[in-house]
Amino acid sequence: MGKKIVIVGGVAGGMSAATRLRRLDETAEIVVFEQGPYVSYANCGLPYYVGGVIADRDALLLQTPDSLAARFRVDVRVRHQVLDIDPDRRVVSVLDGGTGRRGDEGYDELILAVGASARASVPAADLPVHSLRTVQDVDALAGILDVAGPTATALVVGGGFIGLEAVENLVLRGVRVVLAQRSPHVLSPLDVEMAAPIEAALRAQGVDVRTSTTVEAVDGRTVRLSDGTTLQPDFVVDASGVVPNVELARAAGLRLGPTGGIAVDESNRTSAAHVFAVGDGVEKVDALSEEGALIALAGLANRHGRTVADVISGRDEANSPAFGTSIVKVFGIIAARTGWSERQLQAAGRPYRAIHTHPFSHATYYPGAQPMSIKVLVDPESDAILGAQVVGGDGVDKRIDVIAVAMAGGVTATGLSRLELAYAPQFGSAKDPVNQIGYVADNLRAGTTRSIQWHELDDAREAGAVLVDVRSVAEHRAGAIPGSINLPLDELRDLLDEIPEGRIVVHCQVGQRGHVAARILSQRGFDVVNLDGGYRTWRDGASAVSHVATSV
Ligand SMILES: Cc1cc2nc3c(=O)[nH]c(=O)nc-3n(C[C@H](O)[C@H](O)[C@H](O)COP(=O)(O)OP(=O)(O)OC[C@H]3O[C@@H](n4cnc5c(N)ncnc54)[C@H](O)[C@@H]3O)c2cc1C
Repeated sequence: MGKKIVIVGGVAGGMSAATRLRRLDETAEIVVFEQGPYVSYANCGLPYYVGGVIADRDALLLQTPDSLAARFRVDVRVRHQVLDIDPDRRVVSVLDGGTGRRGDEGYDELILAVGASARASVPAADLPVHSLRTVQDVDALAGILDVAGPTATALVVGGGFIGLEAVENLVLRGVRVVLAQRSPHVLSPLDVEMAAPIEAALRAQGVDVRTSTTVEAVDGRTVRLSDGTTLQPDFVVDASGVVPNVELARAAGLRLGPTGGIAVDESNRTSAAHVFAVGDGVEKVDALSEEGALIALAGLANRHGRTVADVISGRDEANSPAFGTSIVKVFGIIAARTGWSERQLQAAGRPYRAIHTHPFSHATYYPGAQPMSIKVLVDPESDAILGAQVVGGDGVDKRIDVIAVAMAGGVTATGLSRLELAYAPQFGSAKDPVNQIGYVADNLRAGTTRSIQWHELDDAREAGAVLVDVRSVAEHRAGAIPGSINLPLDELRDLLDEIPEGRIVVHCQVGQRGHVAARILSQRGFDVVNLDGGYRTWRDGASAVSHVATSV
């Protein structure tokens, strides 16, 4: 028999470690303790079972202790909770939930893959409050929905990725949902103008979205919100975030990082010899700040589980820092991000340049092209890509992944223009949206064009700038930024006399014609800047901000 490896936690990180260990070492003894009744289940699919999108509950249960024993000779013990660790003696103490007996288990190497727990932000009450983290949670929610029927009402607390998935799936079941979100907008990893279409889609589906709103108190079945209203929902889904499970590690004297997660090195070693930790319980390294960060994502948990297995098997393996690349789909709108947002960069006082574009998923002459909005944040000195957000329909996943790969590979923003990407009209454009971002970045870097952001427009105008809308008269009439002068692009060269002296801000619908106008005017000596992302970005930002202003 080879080494004995004990793993605590039998889902994403734990099971990746266990199966990789077996593939590398047929002689190892591998024991997995999982406190719950299921192992290796699809927690990312749980919301879709609630909504009936995944109809077969068994589809969520990817493996069982028996299947893992048969294929991988892994000794998986469900309903076994590890109560404490003695790193000196290399022993864990385990409570068998079936028998109620407590016993010790020795190890040569220990892997903690204990995940995170839902942060409880709703006080215990007479009405059912559930998080959405486990199979038991969705069983409970499904039970409530079966009893409450199609007229049920729910309060979802938290407008992050899981909260929004909960909202969508409850609406699919006919539930009337109030969404309370602490931050000024849903999906707070995105910037406000990028999250605006998601909020609009939620409202269009009848979801009562309350931003900058928290639960203040629960009295019996009545919930009082910080906006002064009270509700009496049939149930509450608390999706207000997660906290890393660190009690075991803390009690065993393992070092925690500044963010509160278990501190590990780049090979997931904790501060105790022969103890590793992976997954949501662990502090990751943020790729931009190179500091500790809590990033709870399945890909990282799985990958780091594999890293640990490699290291224990004698390989020299290390993790890359994390960008937090993630994606969600809500009512047909896909939102994805990687790296830092503009808000984060502002808060850190880090210089950046923002670029917004609004391309289509593929060539517009080919049927089915869907719009998307892309935002990329760029270091003005080095041209490094600091972050990206993509929101829209088809093709969002591809673009965020290409940009995430570019970031990991050190491709600069301008370098995006040189990426050779697969193209046929069904899939993209000869100048793919990612290439287009690169062209804009190149123009800004070279000074060929200058831009201002939607949130800088008011200040610019107060300082005397004149706003010129270069869209067609019909477009201008259909919706315009108040106070703008409409000088359509194709007539611009003949209308130069109508342009006043001083700074000019030009804009079109999405930024492209504005760029052409800016080139025409700057070559004629005007002091001109283009409104980045055009009317579309301004409208999304302004509408979101006015909504925030009226909802606080
Ligand atoms: C509803 C939902 C949707 C999600 N969607 C996505 C998504 O689309 N994309 C994405 O990247 N990520 C998603 N995630 C996050 C992803 O699931 C997690 O990042 C990932 O599961 C973390 O893996 P882990 O191994 O650290 O923890 P987990 O997978 O949570 O496993 C930890 C396990 O450890 C067990 N455990 C804890 N303490 C003990 C103990 N003392 N003894 C024994 N067992 C113990 C727990 O019971 C648990 O089963 C989602 C999560 C949820 C809940």
